[in-house]
Amino acid sequence: MSKTVKLYETAPFARTAESVVAAVDPAAPRVALAATVFYPEGGGQGADRGVLHFGAGSAAVLDVHEQDGVVWHTLDALPAGVCAGSPARCQIDWARRFDHMQQHTGEHILSGTLHRLFGAENVGFHIGGEAVRMDTSIPLSDGQLRLAEQQANEAVWADRPLRIWYPEPAELAALAYRSKKALTGPVRIVEIPGADVCACCGTHVERTGQVGMVKILTAERYKGGMRLAVVCGGRALAAFEGMRARQADIGALLSAQADKTAEAVHRVYDEYAALKFAHYGLCGQLFDALAAQAATSPEQPAVYIVPGLDPDGLHRLALRLAQAVPGLCAALTETEKGAGYCLASASADVRGLTRALNAAFGGRGGGKPGCCQGSCAGVSPGQLAEYLHAHAGDLNAPK
Ligand SMILES: [Zn+2]
Repeated sequence: MSKTVKLYETAPFARTAESVVAAVDPAAPRVALAATVFYPEGGGQGADRGVLHFGAGSAAVLDVHEQDGVVWHTLDALPAGVCAGSPARCQIDWARRFDHMQQHTGEHILSGTLHRLFGAENVGFHIGGEAVRMDTSIPLSDGQLRLAEQQANEAVWADRPLRIWYPEPAELAALAYRSKKALTGPVRIVEIPGADVCACCGTHVERTGQVGMVKILTAERYKGGMRLAVVCGGRALAAFEGMRARQADIGALLSAQADKTAEAVHRVYDEYAALKFAHYGLCGQLFDALAAQAATSPEQPAVYIVPGLDPDGLHRLALRLAQAVPGLCAALTETEKGAGYCLASASADVRGLTRALNAAFGGRGGGKPGCCQGSCAGVSPGQLAEYLHAHAGDLNAPK
């Protein structure tokens, strides 16, 4: 079977093409064409989508793959009568393709710049749904990434034309170019003057200005190098719009202007820290007062319900009560799902009563002999208090 003429290699801006069906695989269903503008998945760039119009009807192209030089188009359904020799008109999803070309070319410019400036190799590349993932061979500092991003954008603004060709073996041997793997057969070289020379099978824009912008969104250490999330062109604009909308939301929540949100967050954080400090002190005073009250009848279990306590507050109250009375002490509070508890005793082991409480109310929790903590879903703190009053006598019962 003859190889497919790859129109996307020579005319990456062609959105449509007239062609002829070369082969049909009805089981998939899929068709091969004599020539196609559909780019098959490869080199980190996803396959094109679109429509194939046959004389007999149309079919959506769901995926595209190359096998031994033949480009196969996977269809949603094969219209009746389509066979080798049928005319076929290609129409690609241009928004998707142009986005891929912007991201792909931007990746070349940034990879080439990182290589030139710092000797970083690109060891992984994938155009994802949101951002382009780029893995580098070496760690890079924030300053190095900022410098590379600046120079990559200068290359975009210079609006230089790309040169893409298959060099003769002698020329190729003399050429310094980036490549992710050892290549066999003819090598397609993509040169972005001043920015990059790389072996690549993908589709690219014609001039660097069409990339629009290169923006590194995030950078983290990954396998001895960096994993970058990068957006170019339309995706950079969408990312900026997303950030602007979030800034507006945050500004409205903080009653701050969009460019003053960081100051406002610092202010709110300081207020929060001060309130937390004051809350800690007030809780201490409340727990002291409850302990003093419990101490007036030390033979009774000290069981208190205090709204709004977190686990740490429950723990503090139970231990404070246990300093005041010798028997069962319990701190209870309402939680989102039910009730939280902390049982403590200065003289007895509370683990048996905790197990009984958990069994009675389907609760979870445990701890040390003198202090156990947990929660019960679907019950009120009042129900737990009632149970504890009724069973406080069990605490010192012989085992
Ligand atoms: Zn490329």
